[in-house]
Amino acid sequence: MDVNTKCPRCAAPFSDFVRDGTYFRADDAKYIQRFRCRCCDKKFSAATFKPTYRQKKRRINQTVRFALASNMCPRDIAELVGVNVKTIAARLIWQARLSREKNRQFVQAFIEQHGPIQTVQFDDLITFEHTKCKPLTVPFAVIDGERIPLCFGVGAIPAFGHLAKIARKKYGKRCDESRVLREALFETLKTILPADVTFKTDGHVHYAQLIKAHFTHSKHEIFISDRGAIVGQGELKKTAFDNLFSINHTFATVRAKVNRLNRRTWCTTKKPERLADHIDIFIDVFCDRLKCLAINPKTMQRRASTAVMDSSFG
Ligand SMILES: [Zn+2]
Repeated sequence: MDVNTKCPRCAAPFSDFVRDGTYFRADDAKYIQRFRCRCCDKKFSAATFKPTYRQKKRRINQTVRFALASNMCPRDIAELVGVNVKTIAARLIWQARLSREKNRQFVQAFIEQHGPIQTVQFDDLITFEHTKCKPLTVPFAVIDGERIPLCFGVGAIPAFGHLAKIARKKYGKRCDESRVLREALFETLKTILPADVTFKTDGHVHYAQLIKAHFTHSKHEIFISDRGAIVGQGELKKTAFDNLFSINHTFATVRAKVNRLNRRTWCTTKKPERLADHIDIFIDVFCDRLKCLAINPKTMQRRASTAVMDSSFG
């Protein structure tokens, strides 16, 4: 992401730059090259317009990114890296913007390398903001078998069950954004997936409607959802074989790794946008881990043997 190949004022090429001394950056103890543009006399440095431009604590970025996806709360991370908790809150938003772009590129690179995506699992994760009386829904799509997240959204839904009446009395009527959110998500999926993709979902009525409307040539396999096991964060099921394992395992992982999605936690989401930011950072770190698995010789061997089996069975 080197943006200093053009002048920030007149967009002159690198050949028009002249070196113009250096300055010492105390934050990471580096000497930074300064430049002057010969066309417009604008002065700038190698740090200008980098994502970390004007940050005073660059050294913490990698640790904060990893810690946010490793079940740590902002206050603990602040103590770990030695900054104020408000710095962590600001860095969450900053990191999420970078991670979002990285995740988009990761999916694109995956499609270029492995061809069009054939099967997708889709489901909603339920969480809440501030209190269980204000639930949130997180519709999520992952690649079947690979567990690579494709896209997700965060939106409000009204309280349900025994809390519905209490919630209405305490907080008034809460709007249901789930349908609009899923519509938007399917619009995004249309740009990623081929027309003849197979969807695996549970028996939700709206999923069937959406798939029919947006992917007319697709296949839709419905699996009735089972009761969750406590050891699987309530997301992994008690059956011997789970047809929706990829999506349920992703949900169990996100619940275990994103602090505010833990079961019985006191770290709760205060703003839905920040939950979306946090999940984006999680996906970024999670995909890095998947990449490490992909270059592991043992997994490579297994993948190669399944590919041979697939081809021999036609
Ligand atoms: Zn210039």
